[in-house]
Amino acid sequence: MKVEYFQPEYKVIRDMDRCIDCGICVKQCANEVHLRDKNKKLYTVDKNCVNCHRCVATCPVGALTIEKNEFGFKRNKSWSDDDINNIFRQAATGGVLLASMGTAKEYPIYWDKILINASQVTNPSIDPIREPMETRTFLGKKNSQIEFDENGDIKTEEKPFIELSTPIMFSAMSYGAISLNAHRALAEAAEDLGILYNCGEGGLHKSLYKYGDSTVIQVASGRFGVTSGYLESGAAIEIKIGQGAKPGIGGHLTGAKINQEISKTRMIPEKFDAISPAPHHDIYSIEDLRQLVDVLKEATDYKKPIIVKVAAVHNISSIVSGIARSGADIIAIDGFRGGTGAAPLRIRDNVGIPIELALAACDERLRDEGIRDDVSLVVGGSIRHSADVIKAIALGADAVYIGTAPLIALGCHMCRTCSKGLCNWGIATQKEDLVKRLDPEEGRERLVNLVSAWNSEIKEMMGGMGINSIEALRGNRLMLRGIGLNLKELEVLGIKSAGE
Ligand code: SF4
Ligand code: SF4
Repeated sequence: MKVEYFQPEYKVIRDMDRCIDCGICVKQCANEVHLRDKNKKLYTVDKNCVNCHRCVATCPVGALTIEKNEFGFKRNKSWSDDDINNIFRQAATGGVLLASMGTAKEYPIYWDKILINASQVTNPSIDPIREPMETRTFLGKKNSQIEFDENGDIKTEEKPFIELSTPIMFSAMSYGAISLNAHRALAEAAEDLGILYNCGEGGLHKSLYKYGDSTVIQVASGRFGVTSGYLESGAAIEIKIGQGAKPGIGGHLTGAKINQEISKTRMIPEKFDAISPAPHHDIYSIEDLRQLVDVLKEATDYKKPIIVKVAAVHNISSIVSGIARSGADIIAIDGFRGGTGAAPLRIRDNVGIPIELALAACDERLRDEGIRDDVSLVVGGSIRHSADVIKAIALGADAVYIGTAPLIALGCHMCRTCSKGLCNWGIATQKEDLVKRLDPEEGRERLVNLVSAWNSEIKEMMGGMGINSIEALRGNRLMLRGIGLNLKELEVLGIKSAGE
């Protein structure tokens, strides 16, 4: 007799008074939860449900509800149901546990312990509807001085830079981790918005080269899809050293997700797992990093800014200080709550530090060393809304990367099973029938709406502070106050307590 150790995480409840037996849920659920027996009678396999809500959203009569199974194991404060189920899993397979999206553990979210200032009486607020508000953002090295020729024209050579209409970019998500339709929606929305998206480490599909001016292309340790044409195609090149969800380790795309198109784009064999190594095998020092930065600049005629992306780890300010001396133009720091298509669960949930603390420490260190204007700082890893953007800029960021928010705008319901490749919303999948569920045109519109809404809110909040440009907000920590933070946390964040 086969004993079932696992307790289903969710219960799928079908209201039989409403159900019209149309079978849509059977077709819509790629996880094979809704099935028919030999007599064509509907039944459910609850343990397969990942709570993606696809069946709930598509049932024409609203007959379905998904409930958290609260009657799993006997309550135990030391051992959660997840802990117990994960022991069963590892005891059965002997394998490393994989997880998707950002950590779900209850670590402090410092964004929620920071409050924003507003003007009253003196230094009056600015009405963003009637007064100009500048959200345009330039990323790259800043010239320390500008020289003019005898005609008054600027003769200082311009350094390569990125121009954004608002200080937001879509963060790296590879073709492979997400579908081509999702990539297309991101690329087209970035073009419409005047911002950039990031193609991640998976190469760039040939149909997306036309969006090159809106694309950050990535060079990661696996060098997937890297050709001279690829390097030339983007507006900026990002060297990926680390990622917030999995600092210190490489990437893993399962063979099941590697179809013919992905194999061509990444220049790797079909159906075999693609593993990017943990380190770049040519980088063991800042000098080595400098060589790669130089090589990429030379290969692209010194026209593209180079971004170096690292995960937020314990000594991040020293690391960033070194990278600022490598010739990089922009440093991207990814906090430990950042998302991922697939990461080892224990690493995702236990390694790294919050982006808020990392950002404050890095901005402070670069200022102390007098090199803050040598690089721009872009931060990601849990930016959830426009207030987080404002707080990040005031803590010292030049711009932010957002990944999970745009995926949610595309329909992601955070079921956190991207690595399985069975995303019912057509986002984190390569299965043709599922990919078709995501309409790139509709996706583009929703992404444009999302970022436009955030931009309006950013303008409103800046106006309330009496600030009319992102440049004036950057590193302006006087605009922030901490609540519920201890003295050390306030010190690292470089902000005063509320009431001070
Ligand atoms: S989609 Fe809704 S109405 Fe159709 S079979 Fe499923 S539960 Fe019943
Ligand atoms: S996995 Fe998604 S589509 Fe399938 S039963 Fe659960 S909520 Fe519905």
